[in-house]
Amino acid sequence: MPVNSQIYDLIVIGAGPAGASAAISAAQSGVRVLLLERGRFPRHKVCGEFISAESLELLSNLLAPEDKYSLDKAIRIPCTRIFLDGRTVEASIDPPAASFARFDLDVALWQSAERLGVDARSQVTVNKVDRRNDTTFVVNTSAGEFESRALVNSSGRWSNLTAKLPENGARVKWLGVKGHFSESTPGNSVDLYFFEGGYCGVQPVDLLNTTVRNGRVNACAMVRADVANSLTEVFTKHPALYERTQRWKGLSDPVSTSPLIFKKPQPVHDGVLMAGDAAAFVDPFVGDGISLALRSGGLAAECLLPYFRGSCSLEDATQNYQQGYQQNFGPIFSTSSRIRQMLTLPKRLRAPLLFILERNPALTQYLVKKTR
Ligand SMILES: Cc1cc2nc3c(=O)[nH]c(=O)nc-3n(C[C@H](O)[C@H](O)[C@H](O)COP(=O)(O)OP(=O)(O)OC[C@H]3O[C@@H](n4cnc5c(N)ncnc54)[C@H](O)[C@@H]3O)c2cc1C
Repeated sequence: MPVNSQIYDLIVIGAGPAGASAAISAAQSGVRVLLLERGRFPRHKVCGEFISAESLELLSNLLAPEDKYSLDKAIRIPCTRIFLDGRTVEASIDPPAASFARFDLDVALWQSAERLGVDARSQVTVNKVDRRNDTTFVVNTSAGEFESRALVNSSGRWSNLTAKLPENGARVKWLGVKGHFSESTPGNSVDLYFFEGGYCGVQPVDLLNTTVRNGRVNACAMVRADVANSLTEVFTKHPALYERTQRWKGLSDPVSTSPLIFKKPQPVHDGVLMAGDAAAFVDPFVGDGISLALRSGGLAAECLLPYFRGSCSLEDATQNYQQGYQQNFGPIFSTSSRIRQMLTLPKRLRAPLLFILERNPALTQYLVKKTR
């Protein structure tokens, strides 16, 4: 296919939170950006839809003025409850997080990208990326070839462009499944129900254009494939969750994804800046994936700016990104993996830990904060 005549400064692959953040941040600084997305928005996506407070300001800065109302309307989540082994551990989330349906979030970011000057094209799949020389990337897509001076790969956790990269972690058979349900009085906490082989998060959520008058909750589980394959099965795994779900009615078709693979962070690959889940997948229970995606996408754009302005090489820019990535996000990965190990200890070992947490909300809050 003929090569598109325009050479972009930056091509961004994938328009989830990471790609949208990279594209918008770069466009806000006057960079010519092409954003390529395989799917189209809006669509439901497997996600707990919890956005930690640390990235709400960044999200607001990324949204065009016409789209900011969607963030203002997002429900605030000031506390968490963890249900495990018949105990309930509570902690406040200060400042409060937000519950933002991916159905609305991703489309708000997409529209903002378009409004802020990004050449955003949906239903275009990137098949392959080649490097012509040190500074030209050739991107082969379902809509022809495009060229750019730099590339951000934000195609998610498990795309045709990330699945085969070296250093992917071992395949553990985990799957993610989620759905929206009606609940008359959902409360304002994010509730995490842990059981042998997985957990399910439940939190209140709103959709912007909905006629549903009752409350709406999002239920999202991460579960081992040999333990459950559907939300209905997941609900039977925890007595308190099961009881709660008896009053629910489905408001959306459940969506699922697999495999869920935890991998070592890999922020740069062959001169390409990797952002969001494409760089690393953080355990969803810490509720930081969207935040990391927004922040790493923004950092990628920030590190590339001096290169676009001619004050550094692409190699310098990618090195700066690699360093910034480790400094900013490295601690989140190690803490979340330590907390996951604690919660999945054998029951006799985790019982004393839960006893301590139950009586020390400040300690629980400290642990929640450490994952930020
Ligand atoms: C069970 C579960 C629960 C979670 N709960 C939460 C939570 O409560 N809070 C939180 O912060 N995070 C949560 N996460 C994580 C969060 O969903 C991700 O971290 C976040 O979506 C990452 O954003 P991203 O932009 O990197 O990738 P994505 O959102 O996956 O976006 C990638 C985009 O790239 C596109 N794409 C893929 N391949 C191509 C291609 N070849 N060409 C063009 N486009 C392509 C895809 O269509 C997609 O739109 C959860 C994840 C799971 C699995």
